[in-house]
Amino acid sequence: MTDLEALYRDLHSHPELSFAEHRTAGLVAEHLRALGLDVTTGIGRTGAVGVLTNGEGPTVLLRADMDALPVKEDTGLAWASTQTATDHTGATVPVMHACGHDIHITCLIGAVEAMAASRDEWTGTLIALFQPAEEHGGGARVMVDDGLYEKIPTPDVVLGQHVTSLPAGMLGAHSGAAMAAVDTMEVTLHGRGGHGSRPETTIDPVVMAAATVMRLQTVVSREIAPKDTAVVTVGSLHAGSASNIIAADATLGISVRSFSEEVRGRVLGAVDRIITAEATASGAPVAPTVEFDVQYPVTVNEPAATARTTAAFAAEFGEDRLFDPGALSGSEDVGILATAAGVPLVYWILGGADPAVVAAAQAAGSVDTDIPSNHSPHFAPLAQPTIDTGVRALVVAAREWLGSRG
Ligand code: ZN
Ligand code: ZN
Repeated sequence: MTDLEALYRDLHSHPELSFAEHRTAGLVAEHLRALGLDVTTGIGRTGAVGVLTNGEGPTVLLRADMDALPVKEDTGLAWASTQTATDHTGATVPVMHACGHDIHITCLIGAVEAMAASRDEWTGTLIALFQPAEEHGGGARVMVDDGLYEKIPTPDVVLGQHVTSLPAGMLGAHSGAAMAAVDTMEVTLHGRGGHGSRPETTIDPVVMAAATVMRLQTVVSREIAPKDTAVVTVGSLHAGSASNIIAADATLGISVRSFSEEVRGRVLGAVDRIITAEATASGAPVAPTVEFDVQYPVTVNEPAATARTTAAFAAEFGEDRLFDPGALSGSEDVGILATAAGVPLVYWILGGADPAVVAAAQAAGSVDTDIPSNHSPHFAPLAQPTIDTGVRALVVAAREWLGSRG
């Protein structure tokens, strides 16, 4: 086992929730300082950034996110997490690196090691940015608002990667709109509570919620053109406490994904209209309350920069290790780091699943059920060749954008 694999196992068994990445950021800062970088911690609460200045030349920012998720790990790995933590609502929750951000941290540390060891081959400034709170809390925006680009140099390009359940050793990049915008909201439907035996004295928020959930299914199927894509998911629904009580209100947690501002506006408008109209149809005493939570823009890979970076990947890995995954319905806030600097973003996906297992599932037509996706309690990327591939991809991409010596 290499030092990087040991680091990966250590990170995996010590996951931390969004904005609680204290141990992780401390470890990262220690590694970066040992490699001779100028390190700033506490940017955007728990963010850590290292700068490696190496003469005149372009400035390249490599980004890794650090946070884990409130998921109870069920991978069976020897180094599986058994940790719990207090979440933003005060509840005690299990914690797991179920999105592979531990892989991202490990790969970026490995890339910085390689870049520090090859200083005589390149020129410019390398920034290694370790972002908090990608999953919950909008860490990229918080870092920018905390004066990120006053504390570190403004980059010429922002580069990063995300591990997925595609075969390990593969790299995927999609030019243009690559990942969806997300808008999440908590909706409270207000009814009037009372005795379960006397519905005539109440306005039942459970029925109101049920009607709203069903009607929301028509937004994508009936209001969005077949050529466009959107997702409306009601991920949580809470109401009531006992069968003989009609509750006073119900809450829905809704997330909306879209790939263009036009579709985004259309879907959000329809969601708002349906929530309001179903409340009216039920005779609700007051209009529903809508509170927006995480909102990330579309992740856009700048086409020229993407072509330049993927050409470098093709030269390093060969065309057969590259593919175009198309636009992904997941969302990311990495684009905010590029937009705030006014520079291009190139963000690619890194395969992490066992290629033999993926091939068997493909043959059986059972990829969707047999290969755990990100955020699954079973998500367990293979350490290798995932880490080696991720390190090399970051180094190749950074070297493509930095100056070279000799
Ligand atoms: Zn995630
Ligand atoms: Zn993630």
